[in-house]
Amino acid sequence: SKLRSFPKERFLFGPSPVQHLPRLSAHLGGASIWAKREDCNSGLAYGGNKVRKLEYVVADALKEGADTLVSIGGVQSNHTRAVTACAAASGLKAVTLQEAWVPYNPPLYDKTGNILLSRLMGGDVRLNSECFHIGPKASLDAAVRELKDRGAKPYSIPAGASLHPLGALGFVDFIVELAGQEKDLGVFFDTIVVCSVTGSSHSGIAVGALLEGRGRKVIGIDASGRPVDTKAQVTNIAKDTLALLDPDARLPDDAVVLDERFHAGMYGIPDEQTKAAMRLGAQLEAFITDPVYEGKSLAGLIHLVRSGEIAPSSKVLYVHLGGQPALNAYSEEF
Ligand code: PLP
Repeated sequence: SKLRSFPKERFLFGPSPVQHLPRLSAHLGGASIWAKREDCNSGLAYGGNKVRKLEYVVADALKEGADTLVSIGGVQSNHTRAVTACAAASGLKAVTLQEAWVPYNPPLYDKTGNILLSRLMGGDVRLNSECFHIGPKASLDAAVRELKDRGAKPYSIPAGASLHPLGALGFVDFIVELAGQEKDLGVFFDTIVVCSVTGSSHSGIAVGALLEGRGRKVIGIDASGRPVDTKAQVTNIAKDTLALLDPDARLPDDAVVLDERFHAGMYGIPDEQTKAAMRLGAQLEAFITDPVYEGKSLAGLIHLVRSGEIAPSSKVLYVHLGGQPALNAYSEEF
């Protein structure tokens, strides 16, 4: 199909593992819960969802002759760590802006976890005081201009690789990959639950599910604390990605579902519901999640299954997008 016509780097081990979670399923007493482990998808600096997106984005950077990947995120951004990892593995430099997106500054917050890994990989890590938002950022444009003035060939990657024309393709791939695994396992996941912030993981999955036409339900769980912005961005990226793959297709109005009940009020800060979900996953299944993203989507999954909002007859797939390196920066929460 059209998807195969886009050049891509190979940064993943292969298909990410699909795993049944029998103890969590039994504990909640509803739908059968499985997970697809994007947190174990690659050997590049612990992998995660961004590495899947960057297979397409870095292929484009190499085609353009770039020598430096430039990107942006919070202090404990998984994305900037993944950009630095893919740069290192491709023989490129990385410059990452690590902004004050989270009003949280415990000891070692800017020294441990993701930012430590970026420094270890030789990234040019630049802290600044800019606030959180998921849209285009002037600070990123300024860094790109500065590098050009110095004679470098920078390639700009927006937050989460989301507002990039190719950013969601990796998660269209995800559905193709999943369909093959389902065939081998003899299962079909009628419902997919995925964390959503900058939006292209969710968009790619929604578009992949739409194009395969098997009627899967995709439920995004907002972790941005600004669900209006995230829903609009997911919808726009889904429309653009669909247009790239099938110009005749139209995104149905109900294709983007974003549950707003689990973001704990603010990006980057967990609440008791987040931490309870993290503990439950860890204690029943040694299933480790972070307080910024997956702890919130896991709280969503737990509620949806426990309450029966996802039917007990369902087979539900929780997409684990990664993010565990940030956990070390949040040790005082536990
Ligand atoms: N989960 C983790 C671990 C992440 O690093 C991110 C990044 O933002 C997300 C979920 C959200 O994905 P997206 O930005 O594609 O919405």
